[in-house]
Amino acid sequence: MQVVHTISDLENGSGGALVPTMGALHKGHEALIHCAQPLPRPLIVSIFVNPTQFGPGDDWQRYPRTLDADLAAAERAGADIVFAPDAEAMYPPDDEVPVPTLPAVATTPGLEDAHRPAHFSGVCQVVARLFDLLRPSAAVFGEKDYQQLLVVTEMVRAEGDRWPGLQIVAHPTVRDEDGLAMSSRNACLPPEARNQALGLYQALESARRTAANGTEPRTIERDLYSRLRQHGLDVDYAAVRDARTLLRPTGGQPTRALIAARVSGVRLIDNMALSDAEWHA
Ligand code: AMP
Repeated sequence: MQVVHTISDLENGSGGALVPTMGALHKGHEALIHCAQPLPRPLIVSIFVNPTQFGPGDDWQRYPRTLDADLAAAERAGADIVFAPDAEAMYPPDDEVPVPTLPAVATTPGLEDAHRPAHFSGVCQVVARLFDLLRPSAAVFGEKDYQQLLVVTEMVRAEGDRWPGLQIVAHPTVRDEDGLAMSSRNACLPPEARNQALGLYQALESARRTAANGTEPRTIERDLYSRLRQHGLDVDYAAVRDARTLLRPTGGQPTRALIAARVSGVRLIDNMALSDAEWHA
């Protein structure tokens, strides 16, 4: 496996599959890398803790950085190349890196967009930059960050032929045995907070069961809030939304429950499909 820190060190990098990450790799990331195996080569894993997608009160400085372990994990999972640039390589001081026009799903739902106002402009900026530099033919994203997955998909669609033929591949959320969604931030949870964090999964499971009985979205949302609060979680949002637009459901379309909540100063997000329909690009 080749490890490169600047784009000029990368030979024959284009046309393959890209798995963008912020490192602190766990089994969720590894599953994304595995699922990219049949895609065109080379398989590139990028590792970059992108400062522009963190707000002033966010955890950019505290975000776990574990490059040596990440390189071993990426190699085990089958990566051909790890691209681990520093901030200067991604955002050269004399080279303006524009933010693409944000799609509606990045600004209108009132979910991550409302609680982390600059987040999706940073995500679109770094993802567009990676696509421009690496010219992949496919890129894999996790449903764990469901709004991000839709934002990237819509950005690629809106940018038209900027990245011709680029396919966005979605991978389902990978969970621990008890149901907690794998996240690099789980490493920041004190041991006693893990049970509380499990409240996200349990609330979503309950939402899925009640949705199957035809319960109204508003009632499901109230139930989500009360379950999360019972676990002592500080809730940013708990919402049932149209699975494609992330706006309020109008009936007849697939829906998704999405949650963001804090425990012991760690902000966790999770989501779950409430109907059988799977995500399609
Ligand atoms: P991150 O390093 O957290 O920015 O995540 C990099 C990619 O891995 C994103 O596409 C995430 O959605 C995805 N990812 C993170 N955690 C999981 C998980 N538990 N299951 C599936 N995908 C994940």
